[in-house]
Amino acid sequence: MWATLISLFLSVVFLANTKMNSTSLLSLHQATVFLAPIVIIASIGTVMFGLFKGIEVSNKVLFLYLFTLEVTWFFLLWKLFENGGEMYAEHAALTGVESLVDVLVLTLAIALFPDRRVMLAAVFPLMLFSFFIRLIEIPSNPLFPATKLFCILAILVTGQKVLYSWFKKAIVRDVEKQYLLTQFRRMALVDGLTNISNRRHFDEILSQEIRASERNNHPLSLILIDVDYFKRLNDSAGHQVGDECLVALAKVLSGICHRPRDLAARYGGEEFVLLLPDTDLSGSCQVAQNVRDKLAAIKLDHPDSELGNYITVSQGVSQWREGMSADDFISEADKLLYSAKSTGRDRYVEG
Ligand code: GH3
Ligand code: MG
Ligand code: MG
Repeated sequence: MWATLISLFLSVVFLANTKMNSTSLLSLHQATVFLAPIVIIASIGTVMFGLFKGIEVSNKVLFLYLFTLEVTWFFLLWKLFENGGEMYAEHAALTGVESLVDVLVLTLAIALFPDRRVMLAAVFPLMLFSFFIRLIEIPSNPLFPATKLFCILAILVTGQKVLYSWFKKAIVRDVEKQYLLTQFRRMALVDGLTNISNRRHFDEILSQEIRASERNNHPLSLILIDVDYFKRLNDSAGHQVGDECLVALAKVLSGICHRPRDLAARYGGEEFVLLLPDTDLSGSCQVAQNVRDKLAAIKLDHPDSELGNYITVSQGVSQWREGMSADDFISEADKLLYSAKSTGRDRYVEG
């Protein structure tokens, strides 16, 4: 896009130069006619790259575009050279055309440097052109244009490598930074073992939801869940099995919390919490029963439970009431959970 705009800019400069300079190589009419193809192609490029910015342009299209743009420049450059040769002595046309070619080479090299192949495909024909017109004009001295061609080529290729490696390093560093940021964000909000929200995230969402319920009077419920005889599971089957049980339970809980604003979180140790916006006590009791049913269905072994061979949980189900703080709300659910524990476990108690 930049090379395209520079092409348009150069065309305007060229035309202005021709108009103001009475000794220019082309007449104003000729310059307009020879510049027209460049302006047309560059305008197509402006529309193509400017309007469809988001669309990825394939290399084929890019090569074709650059090729066409260059052909239009070659046409102008050749006409300049041809005309100037007839009009001026002392290689004035050669100097003018060469300067223009150098500007174009510089422009295209900077615009296209991220891809060495594309860059060389664009600048090499121009450099060859410059080399040949000098050979035609001054055939007795081929050393200068050859040296210039190889030196510029070497500078462009090595320079491209240096710049490319800088950019690559900068991009890699940026990607790593983004990755670390997402990791930090994840670590701040997600529990490392179970991959569901952690306590910090839960606390944040809980205070938001309490504020929302205060404002619009929608019900808000909370279920505090604690695994029964979990210490015994650790002691009898090992910590590894204990961890796997927590992961499986977290999966069940996040599967149950399917509404967009529902939240399942690990509250700490073997305690989990479900936050259920727009849900009253009877609705959250259904969720609690659902937890029992789903857990019973997946049959997680517990070799040392007083309640059977499988993992069970106790739950305290509470609905938020006007004036309750987050702490009050959790402590009420905790009391109900305790009551579920003391009345036999593997059950929920609502209040
Ligand atoms: P209760 O039925 O009364 O809840 O009995 P309990 O054994 O589940 O109760 P308690 O709170 O005494 O036991 C919780 C145990 O959970 C103690 C602790 O070692 C274990 N625990 C806490 N976090 C983890 C964890 O991340 N992984 C494992 N494997 N165990 C954990
Ligand atoms: Mg506990
Ligand atoms: Mg427990």
